[in-house]
Amino acid sequence: MTRALVVGAGLSGLACALRLADGGAPVTVIAAGAGSLGLGGATIDLLGYGPELVPRPLEALDGLPAGHPYALLGPARVAAAVAWLGERLPGIALHGDGSENLLLATALGAVRPTAAAPAAVAAGDLRAGGAVVFAGVRPLRDFFPALVAANVGASSRVRVEARAAEADVDVRGDADASPVALARALELPEERGRVTAALRAAIGDPGGARIGLPAALGIDRHAEVAAAVSDALGAEVFEVPTAPPSVPGIRLYRALTAELRRLGARLIVGPAVVGGVRDGDRLAALEVQVSGRARTLPADSVVLATGGLAAGGIELGRDGLREPVLGLSVASDPGGERYGPDAFGEQPADRAGIRVDARMRALGHDGSVVHPNVHAVGALVHGAVPWRELSGNGLALATGLAAADAILEERAHE
Ligand SMILES: Cc1cc2nc3c(=O)[nH]c(=O)nc-3n(C[C@H](O)[C@H](O)[C@H](O)COP(=O)(O)OP(=O)(O)OC[C@H]3O[C@@H](n4cnc5c(N)ncnc54)[C@H](O)[C@@H]3O)c2cc1C
Repeated sequence: MTRALVVGAGLSGLACALRLADGGAPVTVIAAGAGSLGLGGATIDLLGYGPELVPRPLEALDGLPAGHPYALLGPARVAAAVAWLGERLPGIALHGDGSENLLLATALGAVRPTAAAPAAVAAGDLRAGGAVVFAGVRPLRDFFPALVAANVGASSRVRVEARAAEADVDVRGDADASPVALARALELPEERGRVTAALRAAIGDPGGARIGLPAALGIDRHAEVAAAVSDALGAEVFEVPTAPPSVPGIRLYRALTAELRRLGARLIVGPAVVGGVRDGDRLAALEVQVSGRARTLPADSVVLATGGLAAGGIELGRDGLREPVLGLSVASDPGGERYGPDAFGEQPADRAGIRVDARMRALGHDGSVVHPNVHAVGALVHGAVPWRELSGNGLALATGLAAADAILEERAHE
């Protein structure tokens, strides 16, 4: 029975683990922290810029350089990954299949592309044009409806008639409320009634406009909250993803982990994986630091989903870039210099990561497979510049599933 250990609880690790669990493999996810899902708006960004705005992301994947992770997978597998997420988590109600990018407002009013998003976020697709009211409540931190409306109204990417409304309302006595506090308040009918009454007064007659609200329409009872708020305001409403913490991202994290637990997978969040135990060319176990003591977890397959430089999957030390768990070779380009001369140009660390084959097995400097049972996925993989391309969650999802499929295929041949 193949025991799979997935290191990391971001989208790449959780999607990989869920696919493995669906395939009947015993899975343990072990992660030092909760990953970056709860920081973003649960948008599945496949490819937003290349470098100009990309209208049809799946079509554009063919134009990426050969070393890009999408080039290893091909558009069909990437499209299948997006479809899988939508079908596997119906509660998330993912809209978009990657054929076209939606255009969504950010919390600062920038208009940015994404391939797929949960229904309430996707309902803010600005390509439809028309009138939009961006509305918020004043104690909520980091969300300024007037700024969002001014920037969206001025954007050359969309033709939207935007205005702003802001209500003064108590959010559980919090003078600097987070989106999570507002989402929890909106789950309580009485609190929701107070907030929507204040919003209705601030908005006035929506006059057929859609209403964009900070993404806080409930966490555990999202569908009910979204419908009730829409009813109370007498308009179609949508969610504008906020600065972290991000409620749609938290919902997606919860949906993935709930499914994993339901299938009997183990999810251990807290301990760091610090090394591996080799047995010939294979990795036999991982070394884990728990409460200051080292423990060994045996594994038949290992998936490193430890993220990029920001998450600690790759570190920059005195001697350059390193992968701290197994000491895998980190590839960077162009060249090996630490910084390039143009501060705004591409830097060597931008694409840094572990080179992989199409089965997401980690490769060494010479291009050979390091251990046949060690895979690398997500932001850890070399060859993409997710923040520039707007491809982070798309890469995480597609590479995570590719590793799971490779492991399940090997298992079928055992
Ligand atoms: C603020 C913010 C907003 C973002 N918004 C978007 C967005 O809107 N759209 C988009 O597409 N992308 C977005 N991203 C990027 C996107 O979330 C990531 O690129 C992508 O999800 C990568 O996921 P991952 O699973 O590879 O890694 P991560 O989500 O970074 O997860 C890494 C995991 O590995 C664990 N880990 C690391 N080292 C160890 C270790 N030694 N032992 C145990 N565990 C370890 C971490 O604790 C974590 O659980 C955002 C990122 C941030 C930070």
